[in-house]
Amino acid sequence: MIHSFEQALRLILRHAAPLSAESVGLENLVGRVAAEEVQAPWDMPRWDNSEMDGFAVRAEDCRVGNTLSLVGYIPAGVSARGVTVVAGSAVRIMTGAPIPAGCDAVVPIENTSPGEERVQINQPVAKGDYIRVRGWDMVAGERLIEAGTVLRPAEVSLLASFAYRQLNVYRRPRVAILSTGDELVAPGEEPEEGQIVDSNSYSMAAAVKEIGAEPILLGIARDTEESLRDKIVLGLKADVLISSAGVSAGDRDLVRDVLAQAGVEQLFWKVGMKPGGPTAFGIKGRTLAFSLPGNPVSSMISFSQLVRPALLQMMGYERILPATVKVRLISPLTNETSKQRFLRVRIDETGEGLVCGSAGNQNTGVLKTMLNANAIAVLPPDCPELLVGSEIDVQLMNPEQFSGAKI
Ligand code: AMP
Ligand code: MG
Repeated sequence: MIHSFEQALRLILRHAAPLSAESVGLENLVGRVAAEEVQAPWDMPRWDNSEMDGFAVRAEDCRVGNTLSLVGYIPAGVSARGVTVVAGSAVRIMTGAPIPAGCDAVVPIENTSPGEERVQINQPVAKGDYIRVRGWDMVAGERLIEAGTVLRPAEVSLLASFAYRQLNVYRRPRVAILSTGDELVAPGEEPEEGQIVDSNSYSMAAAVKEIGAEPILLGIARDTEESLRDKIVLGLKADVLISSAGVSAGDRDLVRDVLAQAGVEQLFWKVGMKPGGPTAFGIKGRTLAFSLPGNPVSSMISFSQLVRPALLQMMGYERILPATVKVRLISPLTNETSKQRFLRVRIDETGEGLVCGSAGNQNTGVLKTMLNANAIAVLPPDCPELLVGSEIDVQLMNPEQFSGAKI
């Protein structure tokens, strides 16, 4: 039975549970997903402090033109203990330094005429001016990071501010990558007639790395049970095994047989999608085994649509599907098949917003169309022709290319 694309994806995601947590240091947290919640361990700021370089004063002493005697100095990093602002006096204070006793306002230095022993007030002062009170930003016990949050520099800053050195985050999947085929040679070798250079190992490793998971290259297995067995057994020790090729119906397409012999329960073979149709998926314990088509374009599309969401879910991400944008078509798109089509398209920014057209020949033998593409248009089975001018949502291949304005 052929699974529809939706059925296949749902089945995969049901088996792609978030991995266990691990403790990771601050310097490596960006992009990771919190596996625990974080509450403020103390008030932030932790004490009333000065918002400006200036003078800690009693507001009532500060009529414009008054001068106050200087009775102390609190630089950054120093406690205000033992320092008191008494009537008619002021204490020199630096930004962030704790507010001394007796003081109820800070006058910025630019609103004064400071001397050696006295300071003249040149602007009106109100109670509370330029004092950041304890807990003004965050209060002890407040929940600041929820489990499932993708950590950005802001979250890392927060953790460091509260003296954390590490946090529990979801582990990243170890993804074993296996290329199969008698025709394959490794990059660096000059292919002889009939030989093909193994590019899938590297496109898959790049795609795995791009989302922060850990690729493990198993190399090339030949189209024999013996050659496939060793590498497949090794690959099944990882969290995920991705093999490419050898999964069609040819007599040397042995990958599914050897996976079964190694204990993999096949959950589907063949998906109603194009490219990517001859994809198989199975599980052995907690390990997921994806068998992708050998054609380089098909394996990349199959990865982006079926494997990537699974890996993201294993890493704890809640948003696991590709980001989309609305575009206006400048060339028509068609799907004459009864399968879900994934068309390689190109988006460009124009004065009238984002426009989109085909990125070239959609035959999976044409790798160049993949290079020219920066988005994928998804056309459901038997979708009517999408005409020039229609507005559709397309998946961004690299969302960061579309963030922010062009210079
Ligand atoms: P198969 O699925 O084994 O029929 O392979 C389909 C096509 O993909 C053939 O033209 C293969 O030569 C090609 N192919 C298979 N594996 C790779 C690979 N690792 N890198 C590049 N092309 C491949
Ligand atoms: Mg083959």
